[in-house]
Amino acid sequence: MSSSESAEKFRHELLASGLLVDCGVPGIYGRSAVFEEVIARFDAYVSGVGAADGATSLRFPPVLSRAAFEQSGYLKNMPQLAGMVQSFSGEQADHVALIHDLETGADYRPRLGMTDVVLTPAACYPLYPTQTGELAAGGRLFDIYSYCFRHEPSLDPARMQSFRMREYVRLGAPEDVCAFRARWLERGQRMLAELELDAHVALANDPFFGRTGRMLAANQREQELKYELVIPITSTEQPTAVMSFNYHQELFGKLYEIRLDREPAHTACVGFGMERIALALFKKHGFEPQSWPRAVREQLWP
Ligand code: ATP
Ligand code: ZN
Repeated sequence: MSSSESAEKFRHELLASGLLVDCGVPGIYGRSAVFEEVIARFDAYVSGVGAADGATSLRFPPVLSRAAFEQSGYLKNMPQLAGMVQSFSGEQADHVALIHDLETGADYRPRLGMTDVVLTPAACYPLYPTQTGELAAGGRLFDIYSYCFRHEPSLDPARMQSFRMREYVRLGAPEDVCAFRARWLERGQRMLAELELDAHVALANDPFFGRTGRMLAANQREQELKYELVIPITSTEQPTAVMSFNYHQELFGKLYEIRLDREPAHTACVGFGMERIALALFKKHGFEPQSWPRAVREQLWP
């Protein structure tokens, strides 16, 4: 069976069991209570592992300022994944025209315009614009959790358009930021091993668009700026990234004028793909969490 066939088979099983509910668009699903319980238990497990670090918890809605998003460079680097929010801001006559277009099946898209917000592409994006200025001595550590949107419609249930990312984000001096990333790379492997998931570390790159994108990706790999923990979910040849460990160097520090000792701060983030981890658990241990191995249950339901 090809990896896309086994992905579609797994999707079919998830829908048939009711763990996921088809919303009519590839990659958009409702989630059952059991699915959400597993996500909530894993979220608590992450919090337990990170607790001693004393991160500041912040929760943003799943949208961010369009101005900040444009500033981030995302639309230049990964326009194919972006989700811009549109709305109507016309007058009475425009409204009549809109209704006419809708009722006749005409193309109504020119009657809408972009709003000042976009859908969050990665949970840490709304954070950086709030950190402009001089950081407290030693830098900062944040705990972030958000639904994210990526325009990548797929029948692979592990590639959703709307999914949750839990992140820890470190802003500070290069050595502290790198030590943070290395620590979580160790912790991440231990956590997944305790859940009896067969993860391994892989050097990775972001899905930058086009010809310039290939250069950016090669550079990112060469400098080892992105690692992932990958698990076979729908394919053993192409395992799925469930955690990412990203070192941005001074990129966000410069873009948003975040400084430490008057120098641009360095940043790194560690992201947990919550749905992917839940799917990896269901794939490995079955669709009924009460029948999962005892050692796994003890981690998640302590
Ligand atoms: P991929 O290489 O699979 O496209 P990515 O490198 O784009 O993933 P990141 O940008 O590092 O992923 O996102 C952080 C985490 O969010 C990933 O490790 C993964 O667990 C999760 N994630 C990313 N894209 C998706 C998606 N489309 N559906 C579900 N989870 C995702
Ligand atoms: Zn991030």
